[in-house]
Amino acid sequence: MSERLGILWHYFAARRAFTRWRNRAELRAWQERQARRHLERVAACSPYFSKLRDHLGADRWRDWPTTNKAEMMSHFDDWNTAGVRLDEAFRIALEAERTRDFTPTLRGITVGLSSGTSGTRGLFLASASERRLWAGTLLARVLRGTLLHKHRAALFLRADSPLYQTVGSRRFRFEFFDLMQPLEDQWHRLQALRPTILAAPPGVLRRLATLPNADHLLAPPAILLSVADVLDKAEWEQIERGFHMDPGQLYQATEGFLAATCPHGRLHWNEDAVVIEKEWLDAARTRFTPIITDFRRFTQPVIRYRLNDVIVADQGSPCPCGSIFETFAAIEGRCDDALQLPALGSSALVTVFPDFVRRSMILALPGSLDYTVTQPSLTEWCVALSEDAPLEPVRREVNDLCQRLGAIPPTLTRVPWTPTALHAKRRRVRCEIPSSDP
Ligand SMILES: [Zn+2]
Repeated sequence: MSERLGILWHYFAARRAFTRWRNRAELRAWQERQARRHLERVAACSPYFSKLRDHLGADRWRDWPTTNKAEMMSHFDDWNTAGVRLDEAFRIALEAERTRDFTPTLRGITVGLSSGTSGTRGLFLASASERRLWAGTLLARVLRGTLLHKHRAALFLRADSPLYQTVGSRRFRFEFFDLMQPLEDQWHRLQALRPTILAAPPGVLRRLATLPNADHLLAPPAILLSVADVLDKAEWEQIERGFHMDPGQLYQATEGFLAATCPHGRLHWNEDAVVIEKEWLDAARTRFTPIITDFRRFTQPVIRYRLNDVIVADQGSPCPCGSIFETFAAIEGRCDDALQLPALGSSALVTVFPDFVRRSMILALPGSLDYTVTQPSLTEWCVALSEDAPLEPVRREVNDLCQRLGAIPPTLTRVPWTPTALHAKRRRVRCEIPSSDP
C-alpha cells in the first residue's frame, strides 16, 4: 500500500471507531479477541514473549507479569520481533541526536530515543506500517473531520522524527520547531507560517500566549494542542486567555499514542488500539497508574506495560460527544512526583499527589510566579520561586493541606531558582527521597 493511501485507510478506520461498537461490552469483547490474536503473533517472533505464552497461555494474558521501560530495555534484543540489537539501535539514535538529522532508519525501522526523565533511557522502534497506522489515527483524533482543509502544522519538539514526515504532503505541511533553540529566534518563522495546527509542550504554549497578537497566530480551523508535558489548570487558563481558545491535549508517549481530547474537551483513551488496566493508587479509587497493552504494535511489543504516570479517574457521566471510549479527568504527572508525609498520630505515610501541591502553590502565589517543590526527606520540602516573594503564604497553604490530609506538615526551606530549559521535561513537584530499595 502506498504511504499516503495507507495513512488515509487508517484515518477512516480510526474515525469509524466512533460508531463501530454499540456498547462497552461489545468493545471489550472485541479488544479481548484482538489482544489474544496479537499475543500469538508476537510470541511467534519474540523469544521474550514466546516464553510467557508457553508458560501461561495467550488466554490468560491478564495474568502475565507487568513490564516497564527498564524491563524492556534490559531484554531489548529478545523483546523486539525484528531482530534489532540494542547496540545498533543506540548507534542510530545517538547519531541522529548528535547531527539533528532524524531521517536515518534501520532496515526501514525508525529508532527513537525517549527523554528518560525517570533515569532509564528508552529506545523505541516503529516499522513503516506502524508509522502509517500512528499517523492515520493521530490525524483522525486531531483533525476531527477537517481533513479537506489544507493544513500547516507547527510542531515544537525535542527532536524531529520521520514519523512526522510520514504525514507530510502538499495539502499537509509540517514544520519542525526545535525546543533546543531559543523561542525568540523562532517566533518570526512561526508568524510567517501562520499554522492551522500548533502543537507544543504547555510551557511553550504559555510563553507564546503572552506574546502580542497571540490570538492571531493561528489560521482556521485553528487547532491548539498541548503535548509532552502535564497541563495544569493555571496554565490552561493562561493559554486560553492568550489564544482565546481551549487547548486540546494529546497523551502521546514513545510508548504510543494513548489518548486525546474530544470536541467536548474530555480525554478519551484510544481503546481501538490499547487495553487499559488500572493499578489504583488510593483506597478511594481517584487515581491510578495505567498498564497498557497495545494490540497493534508489533515491532516492539507493548504488553502489560506499566507507565510511570498518575492518571486522575473520571467520575463523570458518559461524554456527550458519543464516543464509548473511556474518559479520564487528567494526566497528573509521574508516579515519582507524588510526595510522602508522615501521618498524624500513626506510623503510616500519607501520599500527597502533585496536584494537591500545585493547587496550594497557585493559591499562595501570584499567577506570574513559577515554582518548584522538591522533597529531599520525609520531613522537609524545598521551595524555589522564580521571583522574590514571601514564603509565609505558601507555609499557610501547605499547613492547611496537611491538616486536610491528616499529615504532619513538612519544614519548608527556600532554595535558589533555576529556570527549566525549553526542551527539558518540567517537573514542578518532585520526590527526591533516596529509595530504600536495595
Ligand atoms: Zn468525548
